[in-house]
Amino acid sequence: MSDLRELYQEVILDHNRSPRNFGRLEDPTLQADGHNPLCGDKLTVALNVADGVVTDIRFEGSGCAISKASASLMTEGIKGKTLDEARALFERFHQMVTDQAAPADASLGKLTVFAGVRDYPARVKCAILAWHTLLAAVDNSQEPASTE
Ligand code: ZN
Repeated sequence: MSDLRELYQEVILDHNRSPRNFGRLEDPTLQADGHNPLCGDKLTVALNVADGVVTDIRFEGSGCAISKASASLMTEGIKGKTLDEARALFERFHQMVTDQAAPADASLGKLTVFAGVRDYPARVKCAILAWHTLLAAVDNSQEPASTE
C-alpha cells in the first residue's frame, strides 16, 4: 500500500513540475475561471470544441501542487472526449474524491491518483477546482466557478 501511495505521489509531483496542456488557448470555444479561496488556487480552463468533441484544452493560473496536477491530468483525460463524456467524467471524479464509500473506479485511469484526497476535505477542494471550472466552461456559465 505504501508503494502505491508513493507511486501516486510521484504522478502528482510530475504533473505539478511539468503540467500538461498548460498555457493560453487563443480564441477558445469555451472558457471559465475558477477559484478556491480556501487555498488560493486560481485557474482558467479553455476548450476548443468541434462537433461536440473537445479538440483542445488548456489551463493556466496558479495554485498548489494538487490543484495544478489535477488540472494537468484532467486536460489529458478530457481531450478527445465529447462534452457529455466530460460531464460524466466530472461526476465520476467528484464521487471518487467526496464519497468515502465509493468503490475504486478503474475506468478513471490515472485520475485515481486523487482518490486519497477524500480523507482531507481541504485538499478535495484543490483537486476538484479544475473540474468545477471545466463544468462552468462546458455549461457556458457566466459565473466563475468557486469551491465555496
Ligand atoms: Zn490548493
